[in-house]
Amino acid sequence: MAEVHQFQTKVSKLLKLLANSLYSNKEVFLREIVSNASDAIDKLRFAAISKPELTADDPSFSIRIRADKDAGTLTISDNGIGMTLEQANEHLGTIAQSGTEDFLENLSADDAKNAQQIGQFGVGFYSSFIVADRVTVISRAAGTAENEAVKWESDGSGTYTSELTTRAGRGTDVILHLKADETSFLEPWTLRSTITKYSDHISTPVYLWETRQKGDEEKDTVSEWVQVNDAKALWTIAPKEVTEEQYKEFYKHLTHDWEDPLAWAHNRVEGDLDYISLLYCPSRAPMDLYNRDLQKGLKLFVQRVFIMDRAEEFLPNYLRFVKGLVDTNDLPLNVSRELLQESRVAAKLKRALTRRSLDMFAKLSEDKEKYAAFWTQFGRVLKEGVVEDPDSRDAILKLLRFATTKEGAASETVSLADYVARMPEGQKNIYYIIASSREAAEGSPYLEVLRRKGVEVILLWERIDEWMMGSLEEFEGKKFISATAADLDLEGVKSESKDEAEKPAEGSREDDDKAVARFKAALGDKVEDVRVSTRLVDSASCVVGAHDQMLTQQMRMMLQAAGQQIPEEKYTLEVNLESPLVKKALAESDPDRFAEWAGVILDQALLSEQGSLKDPAGFLKRLNALLLG
Ligand code: ADP
Ligand code: MG
Repeated sequence: MAEVHQFQTKVSKLLKLLANSLYSNKEVFLREIVSNASDAIDKLRFAAISKPELTADDPSFSIRIRADKDAGTLTISDNGIGMTLEQANEHLGTIAQSGTEDFLENLSADDAKNAQQIGQFGVGFYSSFIVADRVTVISRAAGTAENEAVKWESDGSGTYTSELTTRAGRGTDVILHLKADETSFLEPWTLRSTITKYSDHISTPVYLWETRQKGDEEKDTVSEWVQVNDAKALWTIAPKEVTEEQYKEFYKHLTHDWEDPLAWAHNRVEGDLDYISLLYCPSRAPMDLYNRDLQKGLKLFVQRVFIMDRAEEFLPNYLRFVKGLVDTNDLPLNVSRELLQESRVAAKLKRALTRRSLDMFAKLSEDKEKYAAFWTQFGRVLKEGVVEDPDSRDAILKLLRFATTKEGAASETVSLADYVARMPEGQKNIYYIIASSREAAEGSPYLEVLRRKGVEVILLWERIDEWMMGSLEEFEGKKFISATAADLDLEGVKSESKDEAEKPAEGSREDDDKAVARFKAALGDKVEDVRVSTRLVDSASCVVGAHDQMLTQQMRMMLQAAGQQIPEEKYTLEVNLESPLVKKALAESDPDRFAEWAGVILDQALLSEQGSLKDPAGFLKRLNALLLG
């Protein structure tokens, strides 16, 4: 007797949606069902390594697809690993991960995309309900008896049934009872073209039951199994024989992504290390790129046999967005995740595949438009590599792109090589500024003298930047120097125009010293020191840290968020004696009023550096007092 089971609520919700509201790209159900058949065969191939008896009676693998117009059914059969009754209940009745929720949350107005994405969320099987109003699964697990097979069935409303049945051999039949208006999938031509598209790169033979004319009489026909793919693992084919279309379709099969990949690298290497790799860069970063639970890693094959999904040992963490596979003869067939972690071969492969990935990006960078898209999606995570992977640092530095102060280049980014190439004569260093936003970086008073001298400054405002710059010393012999550094080392730089040449100081040294002394006296222990600025042109003042190393606003926020005490910071105040505001302040002879001026000038500097003040009310009070004169 068949037992009736209730689907999990979230499965029911998903089924309702699939059955009623996906209108385009309906054919993806075939990709999903065929890909499950192919997975089942891969699993059995793997299991048979240690238990050859599992396949002894039926050693050749195949996927068979048969349409029955009279019955209105489409049946996809495989002789893979199969399922027991318990497994069918578990795998087809519940959803292990948060797949459905993720899928439902990700639904967009783009219907075509929705359908394409199904497989990504581990709910591919249910896509059969897009075209079927009843699905029957007959399955027998490899190594079980004939009468231990299972019949699972559902009409896609809230329940399914399952019961024991018999099946002649191991494997699974998925029988789709097509909806009345979806019978086009039974037409030979539609079926053949769809199947071909989705099975081209499957390394198991896929057969289609086809009927063809034999004699002159119309009913003089013959039916037979016709193989529709060449069943060769795509990555084992010489790269020059694989078409672009095939690479793209294979990528979609591998990742269930609905978009084309941005780039791929296919390498076959023999010798010291023996491997084939096919790596892909997606065109879009996954939403959970910064989430610990991100599913990352490559598919691992050993001697063409599928071993495991998401093997994480072959790429460093900062390349976690790279997809693809590696097939090697250098690992044993019984390799486990634990073994991989200690394997020297795996470590060597990791180095090799890291280089392959970085080469793939370097090649992509020849296409400006595509590389800009790549950079927007993955630039931030690539920066992690600068810190994480010192061995690859030089290669990564070449891939970095930066926004800079160069006029009219707001959307343009520059590589370090191009930055260095266009440095004005005499510039010895690479200058950068880190701020909390692009606007704050661009408007920073620290850039004034650099601007006047025509020195381009790299603008940085991402969380990762501070960390990255902390581990960067130089690029091609040029030092990285922060615009906030006490010594900017600009002596050699020729100014661009005459009137921008160094102006002789108006006042005397003695006047300067006096001015500085007045500020020091007025500000007392609010500052570490006061000095005359050489970096400011328009702004009245700025603050610099004691050791050039100031906490940036970001760092401060990170410390705060982590509940850490922010160290009491004292700055050196730099005043621009050419600034009208400072001149006006110095003209004030009353010490109390001058102290108010000095306070405002310090707060301005802090405000522009940090974006906020500890005592905004005090600042406003002082400012208002001065405004009211
Ligand atoms: P996924 O393939 O991402 O795991 P699916 O919804 O496509 O998600 O399939 C769910 C599960 O059902 C599979 O993981 C597998 O355990 C089982 N399954 C589906 N089709 C088959 C099949 N043809 N043979 C054996 N098991 C299958
Ligand atoms: Mg699947």
